[in-house]
Amino acid sequence: MLLDKLNFSVSTLKGIGKNISKILASIGINNVGELLEYFPRKYSDRTRLVSLQESLSLEYATVKVRVIDHRMVGKKYKQFLKILIFDGERYGSLLCFNRDFLKNVLKIDHYYYITGKFIFNFGEIQTSNFEYEEAIEEYKGKIVPIYPLTEGLTQNILRNAISDALNKFRLDIDNELPEYLIIKNMLFAKREALKNIHFPEDFNSYYKAKKSFIYEEFFFQKLFLLNRKDAMSKINKNRKKIEFKFKNEVIKNLPFKLTDYQEKTLQEIEKDLFSNKNFSRLLQGDVGSGKTIIAILSMVSVVEAGEQCVLMAPTEVLAKQHFNTIKKFCSSLWLDIALLTGDLTKKERENILTGLKNGEIKMVVGTHSLFSEDIIYKNLSYVIIDEQHRFGVEQRLQLMKKGERVDLLLMTATPIPQSLALALYGDLDLTIMKGSITGRKPVKTWVIDDDEKRIYKMYEWIKEELRKNGKAIFVYSLIEDSEKMDAKDLMNEFEKLKSIFKEFGVGFIHSKLNSEEKDKIMEDFREGRIKILTATTVVEVGIDVPDANIIVVENAERYGLSTLHQLRGRVGRNNDQGYMILISKLSNLTDEGKKRLEIIKKEIDGFKIAEEDLLLRGPGDFIGSKQSGLPEYKFANIKEDLEILKVACLDAEELFNKDKNLEKKEHLQVKISYLNRLKNFFNNYYER
Ligand code: ADP
Ligand code: MG
Repeated sequence: MLLDKLNFSVSTLKGIGKNISKILASIGINNVGELLEYFPRKYSDRTRLVSLQESLSLEYATVKVRVIDHRMVGKKYKQFLKILIFDGERYGSLLCFNRDFLKNVLKIDHYYYITGKFIFNFGEIQTSNFEYEEAIEEYKGKIVPIYPLTEGLTQNILRNAISDALNKFRLDIDNELPEYLIIKNMLFAKREALKNIHFPEDFNSYYKAKKSFIYEEFFFQKLFLLNRKDAMSKINKNRKKIEFKFKNEVIKNLPFKLTDYQEKTLQEIEKDLFSNKNFSRLLQGDVGSGKTIIAILSMVSVVEAGEQCVLMAPTEVLAKQHFNTIKKFCSSLWLDIALLTGDLTKKERENILTGLKNGEIKMVVGTHSLFSEDIIYKNLSYVIIDEQHRFGVEQRLQLMKKGERVDLLLMTATPIPQSLALALYGDLDLTIMKGSITGRKPVKTWVIDDDEKRIYKMYEWIKEELRKNGKAIFVYSLIEDSEKMDAKDLMNEFEKLKSIFKEFGVGFIHSKLNSEEKDKIMEDFREGRIKILTATTVVEVGIDVPDANIIVVENAERYGLSTLHQLRGRVGRNNDQGYMILISKLSNLTDEGKKRLEIIKKEIDGFKIAEEDLLLRGPGDFIGSKQSGLPEYKFANIKEDLEILKVACLDAEELFNKDKNLEKKEHLQVKISYLNRLKNFFNNYYER
């Protein structure tokens, strides 16, 4: 049977009475199956004995000692037992808080194996967190599991119960993966995996057991994504066929010609839009590759078909920019377009809400406020999310719920390494836009030392450049001076730059300004009334001021690679040479910091940077930190287990293509296990 069918009460196990049963129930363990899935938090390596001296350099260690003396120490009411020990070389102490009884257990002049975390404290080697075993027999080395505990539970209770459960039920446990995949990938059968995750015979067995669980997690996740994609593509969509009048009108008025790759991408999206299946597509294109116009051109066609569409951006500044771009490019269509952000007056908001409800407004741009509960769309059928890595899965799903049959286009300039995309977006179609707009020059990237003289030289250089043409952006990690952090702050530097660059005009922008203030500054900068913008990373995503050509990043060591790459994308957006200057105190750089600056300096391809970033920092950075949208894994770690992920995904795909409904006999267990897991997948993907 499968693990979750082992629903015998835990009280059938050794050492578990009514009380312990209750405690176990309180942490969600009601039956034997659940107990077997209560996995160790870590392991204590008791495969060898060490000396007290050596124990200090280990996390957990086992030492053979003789008990020398018992003492009560500490102040009157806080007295506790301290047991003096000796290993033949050095002395040490066992601090027995609330364990006075150990006086009678650990007897003077007897020998014990003490396992614990030893530290050097108050001039002696101590442990207060230890286990013991009388050293009667020769030491039998083993790896011992350490479980997360709760009040009333001890390691021994859990170990004994789990060991008993394994003895009694192990042979009843069936595989959830098909046997041929277990063999092919050299995994443990489920029962062996379970035994070795709790009580590994040696470290090799432990790793093999862990790999078996990781593979299983990835495998079933992929099956879930494949099923979801399959289910989604069955939906019958019936969008009115159109003549692309709107699109052609917009194209006619564009100040530039679409590149080949833009044309190709647009065609792909149009094919999706007017097919009878709903689609979810992820469009990846490097910063500055011209994604916005593709979004707009696809939206006007949906409007032409009489349906509503939304474009969501992660910041108000970007939403506003998109809104203006749409108005500019679509002016000859006379469309009713709305901008919905968090700071509208009640009246303005009501008007928009009415327009969306009765369908007069066909196109709306905004921030996450677009899916507030009170917003009702008449016939929303197309959702575009820009800079989608800034949003969680939850948000994308909430927005999709606003319409009955919603097509989804996600856009990002932060390329997701393929391996990660597999795990995260296995249910999406992927369009990768490679290339850059004709005539664009790669941005030159320099790293300079945070040294006053050097920086003044840079100011002079910038002045000369700006006198020729262009604009500059300075980026800081702090808005105001902070005692906690040693970094330059926006407000102080703004004051400084204001006088240094008097002739050019200097402004500042950060997230704490209200939107009116933000709008004004961005307008001033766009129109050239100020040529220098000092800013926090609010300018990181999407901001498009084509003639900005210099970006200076202070304390560059504070940013991840993808942020730096995004920041660099703010310049070089017309055919003039763009520059990025990264300032950092080079002598203080950590190895990782150094590596990051080197990578960003030499690499301009966003995809390569993303791969390097994944290696350096793990997946968090790609998908936003808050709601990463990453499923929760019990064992797997996407950063470390990419290889297993790839194999498991391929295997799952192969199986799915052969036997989608899991009807073959050899897939019977897979099917049962899959159905059991479904609920969890839904929780993972929908309700986070
Ligand atoms: P991103 O892909 O980073 O969102 P944008 O869509 O903001 O890039 O485009 C960058 C800039 O290039 C914008 O000013 C846009 O108007 C311009 N642009 C887009 N497509 C082209 C093109 N085919 N030729 C010239 N300029 C273009
Ligand atoms: Mg963009």
